[in-house]
Amino acid sequence: MKTIKLIFRKTLTSLLLFISVFVIAQNKQLPNVTILATGGTIAGAAASGTQAGYTSGQVTIDAMINAVPGITKLATIKGEQISNVGSQDMSFEIMLKLARRINELAASRAVDGIVITHGTDTMEETAYFLNLVVKTDMPVVLVGSMRPSTAVSADGPLNLYNAVAVAGDPNAKGRGVVLVMNDWIHSAQTLTKVSTTAVQTFMSPIRGLIGTSAYGVNDFYRYPDQKFGLKSEFSVEGVTKLPRVDIIYADVDMPADLIDASVERGAKGIVIAGVGNGNMPKAALDACARASKKGVVVVRSTRVATGTVGRNVECNDDELGLVASYNLNPQKSRVLLSVTLLKSRSLAEVQKIFLDY
Ligand code: GLU
Repeated sequence: MKTIKLIFRKTLTSLLLFISVFVIAQNKQLPNVTILATGGTIAGAAASGTQAGYTSGQVTIDAMINAVPGITKLATIKGEQISNVGSQDMSFEIMLKLARRINELAASRAVDGIVITHGTDTMEETAYFLNLVVKTDMPVVLVGSMRPSTAVSADGPLNLYNAVAVAGDPNAKGRGVVLVMNDWIHSAQTLTKVSTTAVQTFMSPIRGLIGTSAYGVNDFYRYPDQKFGLKSEFSVEGVTKLPRVDIIYADVDMPADLIDASVERGAKGIVIAGVGNGNMPKAALDACARASKKGVVVVRSTRVATGTVGRNVECNDDELGLVASYNLNPQKSRVLLSVTLLKSRSLAEVQKIFLDY
């Protein structure tokens, strides 16, 4: 009897040991993903499932994680609340805080990937800013939703699931900051919001997607060809404020004195959301040349949704002292110019930066 008991005890101990080793091995395989929450519709709530009006940034990160079945099987997840705002209230101050936290996490080597929950309105600015200033090649993934968490067919939970799957995927390394929504993976450099309400609101015109992510299964197509992350020359270490850069919208008969007013109010840079290939009326071009002579850096971008703005096409940038934005829309041009103007640079250097980033 004693021998049977002993054998039983030994078998049980071995079995328990085997189960523990198996569980530990399973957990070890899971990547560590930190979710930095900033707010937005993904954390939004409304009084009913079908109402259009709602308040962004109501739900905490822990509640969001708990609302996604199976997400903890993808990664060991930690959540941190950085802010809880609709992204119309995103600011350079919060963006700098995010960048600092990502750089800290990257330096500690404690995480394999980062997810940032964010409102979609200004997601392209934050994604592009982080792409310029975070010093890591680990995956940094922005995610949001178009419908609040309380809506019928809320899109947030599956978007968050896919975002965590991308952040924990070693194949996502070295692709810069990306955005994952509605199964598509976009590069920070290319993505833009194209619909005020549709679930498929982000597009990457011209260069196309980085890949896709469906129910946590990722497929990567390409690496971005611009400079970013570890290859970027920009740093925001110790930076608490960015120089003032204004965007001025061009249209028929636009008042050119807005450009002079911007200079008078202390702008260090101006981005023109030009018509067509970064064009504007003659009076506005003259005002831009005046601003440039005073040392304000003027970038010609475009209000058109896709296409590049070339140098010296319909106006003489060399003579007027202007910079062409190439691939960047006005809001991303503003981000790049703000970071560029942290250091004094010649117009030729600024133009090269707009080519490279
Ligand atoms: N204004 C909200 C925001 O950007 C709504 C857009 C969204 O998150 O989808 O936070």
